[in-house]
Amino acid sequence: MTEEKFVTCIVCPKGCRIKVILDEGDILDILNYGCKRGVEYAREEVMAPKRILTTTVAVQGQNIQMLPVKTEDAIPKELLKVAMHETKDLSVEPPIKIGDVIWPNIAGTGVNIIATRTLDANV
Ligand code: SF4
Repeated sequence: MTEEKFVTCIVCPKGCRIKVILDEGDILDILNYGCKRGVEYAREEVMAPKRILTTTVAVQGQNIQMLPVKTEDAIPKELLKVAMHETKDLSVEPPIKIGDVIWPNIAGTGVNIIATRTLDANV
């Protein structure tokens, strides 16, 4: 039995509404895309959606209490809760540079959590 799914492509501002036709979970066709990047985006979004995780971790002994962090790449959507759980008790000690690895291999994905701002030791 065929099924239709619609994916709004977020790769560029055009925001094409891409139609994906599935049969028993397999992709039969992808329609209404503006370019090939949208085909890949729609395929991944239907078969194995991924998201960037953004969150904060505590900063030890500083006025600014939280450091914003994110995954350096998108991780499987179904692992976001596990990843959030892994980060909830993390804390860091400045100095921290933007891009520093705060936690490696989040949720066993091979993707690191990195700092998204710099914190000097005397903040
Ligand atoms: S399919 Fe191509 S043109 Fe359309 S939103 Fe995605 S990247 Fe942009």
